[in-house]
Amino acid sequence: MDSNPLLTLPYESAFADLGVDYYDEVTPASFPKHILRFRNDALLPKIGLSAEAVSDRNFIEAFGQFQSKQADHYSPFLALRYHGYQFHSYNPFLGDGRGFLHGQVRGDDGKLYDFGTKGSGPTPYSRGGDGKLTLKGGVREVLASEALNSLGVNTSRTLSLIETGEALHRGDEPSPTRSSVMVRFSLSHIRFGTFERLHYIKRPDLAKSLLDHVIEIYYPHLLSIETEQERYGQWFIELSKRLATLVAQWMTAGFCHAVLNTDNMSITGESFDYGPFAFIEEYDPRFTAAYFDYSGLYCYGNQPSACYWNLEKLAVALDGVVEAAVLEPGLAQYQPKYAEVYCDRFLKQLGFTTDAARQLGSGEVRELISQTLTLLERTHVGYHDFFSTLTQQFTFDWQTDSTHILQTTLERSDPQAAEQLSQWRSLYQHALIRLPKDTMTSVQQCLKAANPEIVLHRPKIEAVWELITEEDNWQPFYTLLEAIRNPMTA
Ligand code: AMP
Ligand code: MG
Repeated sequence: MDSNPLLTLPYESAFADLGVDYYDEVTPASFPKHILRFRNDALLPKIGLSAEAVSDRNFIEAFGQFQSKQADHYSPFLALRYHGYQFHSYNPFLGDGRGFLHGQVRGDDGKLYDFGTKGSGPTPYSRGGDGKLTLKGGVREVLASEALNSLGVNTSRTLSLIETGEALHRGDEPSPTRSSVMVRFSLSHIRFGTFERLHYIKRPDLAKSLLDHVIEIYYPHLLSIETEQERYGQWFIELSKRLATLVAQWMTAGFCHAVLNTDNMSITGESFDYGPFAFIEEYDPRFTAAYFDYSGLYCYGNQPSACYWNLEKLAVALDGVVEAAVLEPGLAQYQPKYAEVYCDRFLKQLGFTTDAARQLGSGEVRELISQTLTLLERTHVGYHDFFSTLTQQFTFDWQTDSTHILQTTLERSDPQAAEQLSQWRSLYQHALIRLPKDTMTSVQQCLKAANPEIVLHRPKIEAVWELITEEDNWQPFYTLLEAIRNPMTA
């Protein structure tokens, strides 16, 4: 029998080598059925494989039946231990309750990647849960990760989704509902909550070993900093900037993660774990995606402050390893980095490349962004509709004739909106006038490159899901997937 290329990858044991204080070995569930619903062929070259070399059966054996990997060393499946703040309450009973670290593989970029399961059965951290993932939950995570990736958001990816033939009961889905198991591909599953647990159990020695591991594997360029505390301080600055960058990417993409607990914050600054997420329809800072987020703690507009709060909690958890003063600069650089990336991406959505944006004064940039947001909020023009309409209506004469900028039906229906729009047009035109005349082509190109024509709004997911449940028709899912993977040219 041919060997399975997914099982014979050169698996590494970086996390396992940390020792048993950080995880528990677990046995995967056996499922009654394995139907491969999604395989991410785009990721295979990253781990040295071609799509042709890997059969569907190979995916099922590796990521549905969880056959043993054939590594040079013992390579168990590890449920990771972690705690976390959930909606600001500390929870010491978390940990991988329905997943495990399947394996770690070096990518073609030299970085170490995790295969992490979701829905692979109970573990010591399941707390009475079934350890399973609903098929709808799996479908939603595949779509979210692919959509975010194509919008330039630093996100985990999904390697595979296999339907597993069980009937699950959930309070938030019509039940019984179909089951699945998913494999995630991401830099790391070490979370802020992994450190919080070590602080809680008063093991600064373990926290220090983990931090050294994080730097060695995920921030190796910092190893040349000889003084330990200085190295830790630089690491925290970099993590803070990565997180600020990520949140700015979400915000400009109009994405609401929904569950920003510290156990969902990756130590590498990648976005992951997509539950009740949503892309906003209108610009509404209070928009809250999770039905169980009663106070709106993690609403769209709170995401920057929620992630900063998490960063502060991580700083506390590092007490005993890193001096508080050493972590201050990292905290201080979060907000400026957020503002820098947010402005850069927002201006691109308005057609100003990073170079073009240098022609604008900082006050002008602030005014343009805040006026755009006010216009969006007051007129209820769709967040993505606004930018895609701007892109579609582009004409080269915007610098000379502001009346051609953004024609919408609003003007005829609402005098207040018309006034708002006319003020915005003149502000936008003033910004455009700052650019040399021959750069309007670059404005057009920039608009096209920054603004998706198709967005993964909830009704699109629901429509796809309806056909899956009613007719077991997966074609609309694959069509939507293809469209969100190429959203600027859909
Ligand atoms: P999440 O909301 O997916 O970030 O999960 C929060 C915690 O609940 C983690 O410890 C999960 O492993 C655990 N969890 C979520 N769903 C289940 C389930 N169906 N069975 C067992 N544990 C679960
Ligand atoms: Mg989670």
